[in-house]
Amino acid sequence: MKLFDSVKKEKLDFIPKKENEVCIYLCGPTTYDDAHLGHARSSVCFDLLHRVFIALGFRVKFARNYTDIDDKILKKMKESGRNLSELTDFYIAAYERDMKALNVLDPDFKPRATHFIREMISLIAHLQKQGFAYVLEDGVYFDTSKDKSYLSLSKRGLEQNITRLENEVAKKNESDFVLWKFDENFYDAPFGKGRPGWHTECVAMINSLFNEGLDIHAGGIDLLFPHHENEASQCRCANNYELASYWLHNGFVNINGEKMSKSLNNSFFIKDALNEFHPELLRFYLQSSHYRAHFNYSLEDLALSKKRLDKFYRLKQRLDLKEFSDFDKNKIYSFESEVANRALKDLSDELNISKALATLDEFIVEANLELDKEPKNISLKLDLKQGLEELALLFGFGFLAWNEYFQFGVSREQKELIMQKIQERNEAKKMKDFSTADKIRAELAQMNIVLLDTPQGTIWEKNNA
Ligand SMILES: [Zn+2]
Repeated sequence: MKLFDSVKKEKLDFIPKKENEVCIYLCGPTTYDDAHLGHARSSVCFDLLHRVFIALGFRVKFARNYTDIDDKILKKMKESGRNLSELTDFYIAAYERDMKALNVLDPDFKPRATHFIREMISLIAHLQKQGFAYVLEDGVYFDTSKDKSYLSLSKRGLEQNITRLENEVAKKNESDFVLWKFDENFYDAPFGKGRPGWHTECVAMINSLFNEGLDIHAGGIDLLFPHHENEASQCRCANNYELASYWLHNGFVNINGEKMSKSLNNSFFIKDALNEFHPELLRFYLQSSHYRAHFNYSLEDLALSKKRLDKFYRLKQRLDLKEFSDFDKNKIYSFESEVANRALKDLSDELNISKALATLDEFIVEANLELDKEPKNISLKLDLKQGLEELALLFGFGFLAWNEYFQFGVSREQKELIMQKIQERNEAKKMKDFSTADKIRAELAQMNIVLLDTPQGTIWEKNNA
């Protein structure tokens, strides 16, 4: 496996700390609002990484945290009149629904910051004792000048390095950051009642879940500075080891060429996108360009992705394939099909998704040609099924029965109505009343429903083109 390390800024061979095991931590969402496409892209890209490591036979320990205490959450609590756990439980459940829809594998650990307060307090107390922290009137601060390797991650000059987001108190250095904010409403601590700073949360959780640091720390490129820089600095000073061997960062999501942001009012909730587009299509699209590249969301590109995913399901249709099941993390995997091994090799080159998707496209074209030549060849069909099944595991899409995929966007009531119309049409056909049968077909066509008469009976799909 080759990875691009965003600290060393080069492609490196991945060497795990422990043989055949990889520990990955992905900075997760702050749970005060619904998740947007930026969250979706980060989750989907690093889910692809998760899948590649499973397919390579690694034991993967994957953690993604929830920041469930934070200034933004407190603000939302005031606005909504909901208490902390009501609010954060609500958004965590919503987030997990979105992730499930996008076929993101459930992480092995989903630590919530509020469940690790004791660990955060002991980390801060330790840093204070070692002389890395000092107290001001509004909190405990980290003294960045005490860490000789500060800024070794982001390679920033100190002059660029002003964290204007912090309250302007008399910090010793402009880059110093808050470890603990004094607040009468929160947790008891030896240095005073309060709550943790964001940068401390992740480090304390990583230290509790993993021994001696991570193989891979991942997140959006906007987190490299200050969040990851500050996480790494605390770990270095508290533990004398580096927080992670490799740092991976995904690019921004732009909407029609502009950076997505709340202030520009062009941020897109996953749940809204899922109302319009099939979740597997959204996943396909979000991972179709390289994770480090900035992603430009556009309907034209989404339509192109749909064509490609449709082809996957048309092949499933030709082979009449039902649902596939996803990875079972209790098993060790080793792909058998040539195509999945080829795609895995493509992705092992720091997630070269374009090459892997080209391998998929080529496989589908060839499969269709072979089926044209030998439509009754059972062993060919079994080989193709094996290939598709393993490709679904690797890419995280293509799990559904083909007809379920092509019926996307039809409500349960509509489905009942369609079934009833098909029944009526069958009866009309039996009575040789072809004009009624044609009328029903035309009526359904008006609803964008296409009927296909097969030897097994009439099936239908929605024309989503
Ligand atoms: Zn973090």
